[in-house]
Amino acid sequence: MTRLVLKFGGTSMGSPQRIAHSASIVAAEAARGNQVAVVVSAMSGETDRYLGHATSLGGGLGEIETDTVLAAGEQAAAALMALALKQLGLKARSILAWQLPIEVDGVPGSARITGIDGEVLESLLADGVIPVVAGYQGVDAQGRLVTLGRGGTDLSAAAIAAAIGAECDIYTDVDGVFTTDPRIEPAATRLARISHDEMLELAAMGAKVLQTRSVEYAKAKGVAMRVKSSFAAPGASAGTQVLSESALAERRVVSGIAYARAQARIAVPGIEDSASGPGGVFAALAGAGVHVDMIVQGRARSGGSNLEFSVEGRDLRAALQALAGHEGLSSEVGLAKVSVVGTGLRGRADVARTLYGVLEAEAIEVRMLATSEIKISALVNEDALERAVRALHAAYRLDTAVYS
Ligand code: ADP
Ligand code: ASP
Ligand code: MG
Repeated sequence: MTRLVLKFGGTSMGSPQRIAHSASIVAAEAARGNQVAVVVSAMSGETDRYLGHATSLGGGLGEIETDTVLAAGEQAAAALMALALKQLGLKARSILAWQLPIEVDGVPGSARITGIDGEVLESLLADGVIPVVAGYQGVDAQGRLVTLGRGGTDLSAAAIAAAIGAECDIYTDVDGVFTTDPRIEPAATRLARISHDEMLELAAMGAKVLQTRSVEYAKAKGVAMRVKSSFAAPGASAGTQVLSESALAERRVVSGIAYARAQARIAVPGIEDSASGPGGVFAALAGAGVHVDMIVQGRARSGGSNLEFSVEGRDLRAALQALAGHEGLSSEVGLAKVSVVGTGLRGRADVARTLYGVLEAEAIEVRMLATSEIKISALVNEDALERAVRALHAAYRLDTAVYS
């Protein structure tokens, strides 16, 4: 008997019909003799709808009352899934974060899970009852509901799997992790397996098929994780396995292309080399909670440094406020980031050359570049993004690759 946590995302919970179909997948896993627990997201669109209401009343992300509003979507979804399972003749019970509890720490809107008490789940499982846990939330030290960041139900699922020693199947609207977003490049190929590190990098670079912290959690706790489609018949999705690198037999140079829209660029010219110089700029941004992504620093002709860096578009206003007073401060929106990810990029000197060459042939200007051990990212104009993704996908032959 295998213990499984089955997670269903927003589109898999998108309507009573979709919930009923997702419930039939749960029923099929139970019928195969597996012991199953379910973790659910809000019905698609609900979190944004609630966020809109909260924002219109002055509560943005990061406000504790907003979190109580947002958590409502998953609470309703858990009960709806429990109803759907009961309709199939199964025993099921919805569980809210405080009923376990799922303990969290940190700021509203991006809390971290610090502990999960598995006792309630264990006793339900022992009684043959399927627990259906509301994702995306936990309770803080004051006993208040706090959410885990957008896409956070993936993290809830990984953490619950770790707490009860289960494997974790993430059901979504695509048949696994692809070489790039199949909505942008229909020729994208499904990866039967991917290493934690590659998946982490793809997720961190924008591939929202798995939330970054859920992969980190699964890697740290050794949770076996798979991505599957809830749109297939029960048992029919081939999916993707997320594994440790050592468990991967094949070695490929590039695994995938990720992208992130709505990036912004900020330029701060002529910064003097003093304690409050470039370091002071980044200290001010960190103080405002702004995450800086790519950075380019050059010498200014007049002495001192010119700084250019990218931030998420939604952080631009806070960034400009934090830097107010810097002479010559300028910014630009309408940018996007495209990233090539693969463990085979390690130590390869020709990676930047290939990327530049491909984008140059497409007449796409590289505005900024950043590399890490297993990825290379370029900042480009957002209107050229999809073309950049497809050109890089073709250049690395990801459409013809056979990944078994
Ligand atoms: P859920 O609501 O189930 O959590 P998400 O919308 O968060 O689903 O994630 C699934 C989506 O991720 C897909 O519909 C797809 O458009 C997108 N995606 C981006 N990159 C990839 C990729 N490399 N492989 C598969 N899907 C991807
Ligand atoms: N409902 C939340 C969101 O839309 C969490 C999730 O779906 O994982 O981000
Ligand atoms: Mg998601």
